[in-house]
Amino acid sequence: MSAPSGLVIDIVDLPHAVGATKDVRLRVPAPPGLGTAVIGTPEGSPVAVDATLTVLEDGVLVRATADLHVHGECVRCLQDLDEDRTVRLEELYHLPHGAAAKEDEEDQDVLLLGETTLDLEPALRDALVGDLPFRPLCRPDCRGLCPRCGERLDDLPPGHHHQDRDPRWSVLASLLAQTPQDDADSQGRA
Ligand SMILES: [Zn+2]
Ligand SMILES: [Zn+2]
Repeated sequence: MSAPSGLVIDIVDLPHAVGATKDVRLRVPAPPGLGTAVIGTPEGSPVAVDATLTVLEDGVLVRATADLHVHGECVRCLQDLDEDRTVRLEELYHLPHGAAAKEDEEDQDVLLLGETTLDLEPALRDALVGDLPFRPLCRPDCRGLCPRCGERLDDLPPGHHHQDRDPRWSVLASLLAQTPQDDADSQGRA
C-alpha cells in the first residue's frame, strides 16, 4: 500500500518542445526513507520544493531546491541533531523510449520519465544523502560519553572521573602504569 508520493510532478501540460519550461512549487509531507540510517528528514515533516523543468531533446532537466528538516543523532554522544537544510539538485530524466534511455538500460541509477509524470523523490533522496554527513557529530571534536556513568563528557566538568573504581580496574591501571608506552604491540600485530 504505497500511496503515490507528493513528490510526483504532473507533466501532462509540459509542451513537447525543446526549451519549454515549467515551474513547480510543492509543499508536501516528507515521504519515508529520505536519508540514511543515522540521519535524515523525518517522515511527514514539511518539505518545500521549487523546481524548474526544462524540456531537452532526450528528456527533461530538473533543477530544484528543497527546504527540509534533518534529524539525527551524534554517533559519539547520541545527542539529538536538528537542522534545516536547503538541498540543491539538478537531474536529467530520460524519456522512457528515448535513445539515451536505451544506451543506459544497464544503469540502474538512470531516472526515467513516466508517461505523464516525473517522480522527484529518487533525485531528492540522492541529493540529500550526498549532502548528509556519513557519521554525524554534534561538533567535530565531540568527546562522546563517559564509559562509567554514560553522561556526555562535554557536559561534565574538566577532569571528570569516578573514585569508586572496581578493584579489577585498579589492578589493570597499575599494570598499565608499569608498561612502557612504545609501539611493540602494534608492530607485533602488523
Ligand atoms: Zn556528540
Ligand atoms: Zn562519568
